[in-house]
Amino acid sequence: MMQKKVQIVIGTANEHKFREIAEILRDVPAELLSLKSFPEIPPIEENGQTFRENAFLKAHAVFQHTGLLILADDSGLEVDALDGAPGIYSARFAGAEHDYAANNRKLLAALQNYPDEMRGAQFRCVVAIVFPDGAQKTAEGIVRGKIIHELRGNKGFGYDPLFVPDGYTRTFAEMGDEIKNRISHRAIAFQKAKEILIENQNWPPEGKFRANP
Ligand code: IMP
Repeated sequence: MMQKKVQIVIGTANEHKFREIAEILRDVPAELLSLKSFPEIPPIEENGQTFRENAFLKAHAVFQHTGLLILADDSGLEVDALDGAPGIYSARFAGAEHDYAANNRKLLAALQNYPDEMRGAQFRCVVAIVFPDGAQKTAEGIVRGKIIHELRGNKGFGYDPLFVPDGYTRTFAEMGDEIKNRISHRAIAFQKAKEILIENQNWPPEGKFRANP
């Protein structure tokens, strides 16, 4: 396994996402840092056209400031009946950034005339990995499900109260992190990212990482 405890920056300042990711990566012998540890990094404009572009915008910005190993994700909800919307605009579907309640109201309104069989949707997550030597990789995760007709559950965040994953009866917001973190788009993508880290066990190249004190 990996020898020296290294630092990995997770390119998010969202505490909930950071906790989910830390849980998924818990057996990686590294210290995981969120963007909260780097207040000097200015807000990163996510103006890419795809999840992948946005993930790399975040990863590169954080890499420039830290030189550390970066895992940065971009994620969102793609609704079949809305041709994949809100997609990369998931956080600001209803206008203001991260107004989850308004986003959920807008989604319910957009789907109000759609019967159950036309309410298919998926969450997608793309992780950009930047190694300290500049090498890059990506990992993607998708979870399919459907959008229900009313909010259910108060765990989780974002669209969780409206999303029932295929093969389950409870929403992401009802099932809680233990199950969600096994099956979610983010779980799948970060699991793959973890495998990429393990495959590249020659990281860190000697001396390129800050060892823990
Ligand atoms: P990001 O933080 O730029 O990746 O934006 C992701 C947005 O997509 C969030 O603000 C949520 O609206 C939505 N989203 C992504 N992942 C999830 C999830 O696991 N549950 C619910 N909503 C999510």
